[in-house]
Amino acid sequence: MSGTTRVPPPDNEPVFSYAPDTPQRAELKAALTEVGRERPDIPVIIGGEEIRTGRTHPIRAPHDHGHCLGVWHEAGAEEARRAIANTLEARREWAAWPWEDRVAVFLRAAELLRTTWRARVNAATMLGQSKNAFQSEIDAACEIIDFFRYGAWFAEQIFDQQPHSDVGIWNRIDYRPLEGFVYAVSPFNFTAIGANLAGLPAMVGCGVLWKPSKHAVLSNYHVYRLLEEAGLPPGVINFVPGDPVEITAAALGHRDFAGLHFTGSTGVFQSLWTTVGRNIAAYRSYPRLVGETGGKDFIVAHASADADALRTAIVRGSFEYQGQKCSAASRAYVPQSLWKRIRESLVEETNGLAMGDPADFRNFVNAVIDRGAYDTITGYIERAAAGPGARVIAGGDFSDADGFFIRPTIIEAENPAHESMCDEIFGPVMSIHVYPDDRWAETLDLVDRTSPYALTGAVFARDRAAVRQAMSALRYAAGNFYINDKPTGAVVGQQPFGGGRASGTNDKAGSAFNLSRWLSPRSVKENLAPPTSVEYPFMASE
Ligand code: NAD
Repeated sequence: MSGTTRVPPPDNEPVFSYAPDTPQRAELKAALTEVGRERPDIPVIIGGEEIRTGRTHPIRAPHDHGHCLGVWHEAGAEEARRAIANTLEARREWAAWPWEDRVAVFLRAAELLRTTWRARVNAATMLGQSKNAFQSEIDAACEIIDFFRYGAWFAEQIFDQQPHSDVGIWNRIDYRPLEGFVYAVSPFNFTAIGANLAGLPAMVGCGVLWKPSKHAVLSNYHVYRLLEEAGLPPGVINFVPGDPVEITAAALGHRDFAGLHFTGSTGVFQSLWTTVGRNIAAYRSYPRLVGETGGKDFIVAHASADADALRTAIVRGSFEYQGQKCSAASRAYVPQSLWKRIRESLVEETNGLAMGDPADFRNFVNAVIDRGAYDTITGYIERAAAGPGARVIAGGDFSDADGFFIRPTIIEAENPAHESMCDEIFGPVMSIHVYPDDRWAETLDLVDRTSPYALTGAVFARDRAAVRQAMSALRYAAGNFYINDKPTGAVVGQQPFGGGRASGTNDKAGSAFNLSRWLSPRSVKENLAPPTSVEYPFMASE
């Protein structure tokens, strides 16, 4: 086919409401029943071949430990090595495909997910990762569709960038996929992150080894199957759930390791970076390292802020998906005058949030992901309750009898350096420091200095000068900055996502910045009138 083609202009996928009596609600409820009963035996998938290693793990619903949703087979070093060899082989042909054909696979996947696959992928996310219908919809349905549609469009924009050519010369850029393979390591908390980490490097022609989180194997497996149905050739992405240490050693120890696409905790990313540094001389190319990691995301309110808007942002921004969003608000700074006005209603609203099984659509909050998270989060709550420097003013209860349930909790921290104001807790815990109204500038400085992270943050103020002051004082404190809005819920194509400082390399998921990291441009100069003599005109005698 000849012609300069254009991908369909993307739009953000509309979010279904799942309100009572909508057909989507009925379809999702039916899918929850089906996915809840299926109990798949999930293999490692290499070159399209299903490999059952026999080292199996049950998948348990975090809100109901007694409910086994299936089992998955664990890959180790041997499967990782096999998968890398297979990816390198599959990549050879895939990288040579016209970009339109590669992109078409992902546009088809977006279309399948928009229609026939939507309820299934949502149900797997709701049950396996304990997410309510709305939180799952914005993640596993809409964000994946957006990543794929916008990814195709960003790829076109990048490929469109071609250099100037002087007379007699034709300059071009060949956007080569990285030589080697990309290692995609994804977290539990967003199904869409797995789809993005593995999918976008593949879209621009790379071969990918995808190691999903053990807590998201069910939904991520469905995403892999979706890509397969959309026409992704075997081996372009190999699906390798398994031992993170063994798989990582095989990947980062391989000569053809070309890029790391990571999202997860800061400590793990730093350890992977250290390993890459140690191995640097052994690689064929300098690997691209893209990592989005932890956060200690803030809301800072000025005395002029709207009280209702602030209270709503604190509740939604801190407790949706049990605070297990890298972007979740987990520390707030509220002036005394405003605190007097919102304290009671904030506590009441927080204590009134319904909690339970995500299949019961009345619930706002569900369970945290596993026992480890439960123990860590409840430890912070217990230490805050014991004082000094802080006290629990809402929530604070928890139970692991049926599932890992922790009531949304608010800590009032008199000490702004209390651990609950500084550490990433990654659960439904918001710590609030109340400051004297006349210490606005000092408080902005405190926000900036308190945490090593710089992922998301929000300022609430009606006074425009205060907004400007916060924008300036907190310029490097957040990669995603919000004015009079909660710091969560970034939308692909609208608020490219990522943070600086200890929060990551800020390569902005869902943007052309990110896609360009998986490309190694080759400049091609063609001389249409090559010189035929060595001497330059200035050398001629007068
Ligand atoms: P995690 O770091 O425990 O796991 C992430 C991935 O790393 C998983 O696939 C895991 O198996 C793998 N892993 C764990 N230990 C490893 C090791 N020693 N070697 C190699 N790989 C290893 O993170 P998580 O609990 O899945 O996710 C929560 C974390 O992710 C939070 O810190 C959160 O802030 C962060 N996160 C950040 C963003 C962002 O965009 N900045 C988005 C989502 C999550």
